[in-house]
Amino acid sequence: MEFQTVGIVGAGTMGAGIAQVAAQAGSSVFLFDARGGAAQSAIDRIRSTFSTLASKGRMTQDAAVESSARLAVAPDLQCLSPCDLIIEAIVEDLTAKRTLLRTLEGICGPDSLLASNTSSLSITAIAAALERPERVLGLHFFNPPPLMPLVEVIHGRLTASDVVARAEVAMRAWGKTPIRCASTPGFIVNRVARPFYGEALRVLEAGGADVATVDLILRDAGGFRMGAFELMDLIGLDVNLAVSKSVWSAYYFDSRYRPSWTQEEMVAAGLLGRKTGRGFYTYPGAVASVPSSPLGPAPSQVQYLTESDALNPLVERIRAAGIKVQSRKEEDPFGAGMLRIGSATVALTDGRTANQIAVDEELTQVVALDLARDFATTRRVALARGEDTTTSALADAVGLFRALGIEVSVIDDLPGLIVARTIAMLANEAADAVMQRVATADAVDQAIKLGLNHPEGPLETADRIGLTLIDAILTHLQAQTGDDRYRSSLLLQRAIWSGRDLR
Ligand code: NAD
Repeated sequence: MEFQTVGIVGAGTMGAGIAQVAAQAGSSVFLFDARGGAAQSAIDRIRSTFSTLASKGRMTQDAAVESSARLAVAPDLQCLSPCDLIIEAIVEDLTAKRTLLRTLEGICGPDSLLASNTSSLSITAIAAALERPERVLGLHFFNPPPLMPLVEVIHGRLTASDVVARAEVAMRAWGKTPIRCASTPGFIVNRVARPFYGEALRVLEAGGADVATVDLILRDAGGFRMGAFELMDLIGLDVNLAVSKSVWSAYYFDSRYRPSWTQEEMVAAGLLGRKTGRGFYTYPGAVASVPSSPLGPAPSQVQYLTESDALNPLVERIRAAGIKVQSRKEEDPFGAGMLRIGSATVALTDGRTANQIAVDEELTQVVALDLARDFATTRRVALARGEDTTTSALADAVGLFRALGIEVSVIDDLPGLIVARTIAMLANEAADAVMQRVATADAVDQAIKLGLNHPEGPLETADRIGLTLIDAILTHLQAQTGDDRYRSSLLLQRAIWSGRDLR
């Protein structure tokens, strides 16, 4: 087997986790750390993990003993000379990583691969100091490495293609899913994920909804496993802010990636999330109570004023509930769609607020409906009413959703509400990453599913919901906020003009 002997430098969180993966997969592992005793204590911890796994029947006794025997401390870097793959997981510092790889280049054989687990540094820059930069690549594992299947396999400008191919074979042999990408700021996951946090923070800063409501809507209507704020608390606000700042500065302060002053203030106050007991929530016992939905009368009929693929699943659900639907058979130009329910005009947001829709379309009693990942199954929707929309019109809109068994959150009338802006911005960032050849569309989608646990890839979601609507959400957000971060990706625009999907 290739990569029979592997070296790992840095025995912290990531290095120890990668060592566990490699040993369990059958490679002999030499672990080195500059701090005396660190490698040995990491190996002791991994061995005790193997014993626990064996005692729980998740690994055989023999496998636990054999995997443990494959781990050895490297007392110095010279001991890594027989390794055909060395992965560094030391401190996130360009000079330290360059110096280390240059030293390793002089120690190991000419065919050995040198990999960095960096989460934010350029692989090209790390490799630049070496005589043979073509053998350097990124192997970006996710935390915790034994549990997270994704490894971003990153090629720098000078990385040889056979080096990438060999590393992919090794990662598969270790039971991981390698996803190939180019050395660009944030690679795939740390870049494409930015708007998930960024949009939630902007909703909060604009007073659109409180932390718990945003999370509830992202989970129950957006279909995300976790809300943005609970996830930031889990990751650590300091870690999350550092990644945001690093991607932002690497893209020359493009407003797409601009961090949030709210997060900066919280980090300054030491409110870092779970690890400090306080972040957006307070721990332990951070169980936000779910407010009960408002009430409204069940309608006997609904008018489908303008139709769209995005709204059709909701209309099917209305029909299936025995509510009559009258259709005018007019298509919505932005791919959004509107319903008349009693006195209310319920407009799926195309990025515009209820107020803006009322003015533009010369309508009254407008209620904006946030996007749901899947209206056919959603448990919750978010609604926002315009300035002139009466309480009884809002109740008419609420009544429809309650009649369908769907909970309702009423939020402030913000452009793109919560789910629509989040899904559109994730798709936009993914589209730009594909356009810039960071990775293929399939690779981006798969990386986001595996690295972030999202139920669907962002491009897959955009294709399903409709690119005209995604583009309209972004364009209206840009117009209403004046913020360039919402500019629509050229790839998205090109796909619309040519009638193609993003995937
Ligand atoms: P860590 O602080 O837990 O461990 C780093 C280890 O490296 C320490 O044990 C330290 O003693 C050792 N070390 C530092 N400088 C060294 C040197 N010059 N030579 C040998 N050993 C040295 O850090 P970590 O969280 O494991 O992160 C390591 C790398 O992995 C970083 O580049 C980080 O960006 C990246 N990464 C971290 C995560 C994460 O969630 N923690 C995820 C993906 C990638």
